[in-house]
Amino acid sequence: MYFPAKVSLSSIAIAFVCSQAISQDGTQILITNVNVFDGVNEELIENANVVVTDNLIAKVSSEPLSATNRVVIDGGGRTLMPGLIDAHWHTLYCCNPQSVIATGDILEVAVRGAIGSEGTLMRGFTSVRDVGGNSFAIKRMIDAGEIKGPRILPSGPPVTQTGGHFDYRPYQAVPSNSGDSQWYWYSVGLMAQADGVPEVTKRAREIMRMGATQLKISTGGGVSSTYDPLDVRQYTKAEIEAFVEVADTYNTYVASHVFTDEAVEIAVAAGVKSIEHGFLMSRETMELMRDNDVWLSVQPLLDDEDGFSFDDPISQQKWIDVTNGTDFTYTTAKEVGVKVAFGTDILFDPKLAERQGAFLAKLQRWYTPYEVLKMATSTNAELLELSGPRHPYQQGGLGVIAEGAYADLILVDGNPLENIDLIADPHKNFDLIMKDGKIYKNTLD
Ligand SMILES: [Zn+2]
Repeated sequence: MYFPAKVSLSSIAIAFVCSQAISQDGTQILITNVNVFDGVNEELIENANVVVTDNLIAKVSSEPLSATNRVVIDGGGRTLMPGLIDAHWHTLYCCNPQSVIATGDILEVAVRGAIGSEGTLMRGFTSVRDVGGNSFAIKRMIDAGEIKGPRILPSGPPVTQTGGHFDYRPYQAVPSNSGDSQWYWYSVGLMAQADGVPEVTKRAREIMRMGATQLKISTGGGVSSTYDPLDVRQYTKAEIEAFVEVADTYNTYVASHVFTDEAVEIAVAAGVKSIEHGFLMSRETMELMRDNDVWLSVQPLLDDEDGFSFDDPISQQKWIDVTNGTDFTYTTAKEVGVKVAFGTDILFDPKLAERQGAFLAKLQRWYTPYEVLKMATSTNAELLELSGPRHPYQQGGLGVIAEGAYADLILVDGNPLENIDLIADPHKNFDLIMKDGKIYKNTLD
């Protein structure tokens, strides 16, 4: 079994220089006879050969490459593309029923999250930005090669104000008392609550101390939560600025769950760099985001066959209100030219999580297949770069097939640039899945 070594920044140059040599443990893989979508360019590199040394891509070439001392995989004319990235994923919430998150044992939550992580990788998602939940231990075990899953950039517990989107306490929980900070899911890091600048500052630092790569907060009403109508703004500007200031001291950024114009305007003014969802925004607000270099991290959530169903009729109505904005949001965001990231935000349903690739394919309503694939690879990787020195994967690039990039690769049986629906069924159409130079699936043998 191959365990990726932790490598310092200074060794990048060494890896580059030595990229043509056989690595110390001799791990070198030559993938022949593939058409390469490199994550950036629409033009495929045809009849290409790709050499993987250890965990990095060492060579991409249309010239024949020698196979001495190399494991050879004949790609048979298939399309090789970078591993997919989901920029709005919840390692724990995705794969646990809401009732288990709300009333269950953290051990059950964690086990389901770990099982779900293997499923995520086996759908070709080799990296995720976790925008809420306690995914630190799962991330560590994945990185150590002890369990299977994607690379994770964890936000840790998402932070809410009292009565905000992540305040899932029952009605009887208020008036609050001094024991509230020990509410079960707060003490196990599934969510966090903070009110007022001093408490916000403290919680934000605690979450960075846990190992967060960015902070996730909620600054507006949510769908799955009961006590915060969609029009409600959450946190004062001063509180949001306090989150941003702590993130800034760690040289990273804040992502915020928010839907409406007014709430987005305040978040942008306070320095939030990634707007999560934004389904109820006007064109003017998207222009404001574009002018301030703020990302729109939006999901193809529609009231279709994959529509979420909530026990609470209030949440169900909110779901319809929000998904009514999806089409306008994508269409207008594209026209305006705001930076758009792809994510799924699949919640509370392991079966629905299986549809992660199908969610990506839904972007064809608004984008060409090339635009879809670029967004879910190199563009999403660009968003992850906002974590700066907190980005855990500094050795190579993500979301691209290029020399020196991480060997996170998918071999597709067909050309997804011509038929984007191929990515909707990864179990059938992905013949090879590699992450960090290690093969997790290979049906070509
Ligand atoms: Zn979410």
